[in-house]
Amino acid sequence: MMSPIEFFKTLPEKKCTACGNAIQEQADCYGDVCEECDDPAR
Ligand SMILES: [Zn+2]
Repeated sequence: MMSPIEFFKTLPEKKCTACGNAIQEQADCYGDVCEECDDPAR
């Protein structure tokens, strides 16, 4: 059984398709863009 930390280390780094910044793994509901680019207020 993999620990959560080991699991995340195996994941490829997600990058925002809009600005290219790395996406934090805090949430997986942002899809392919970072929090800033996904902000509906912008
Ligand atoms: Zn972005």
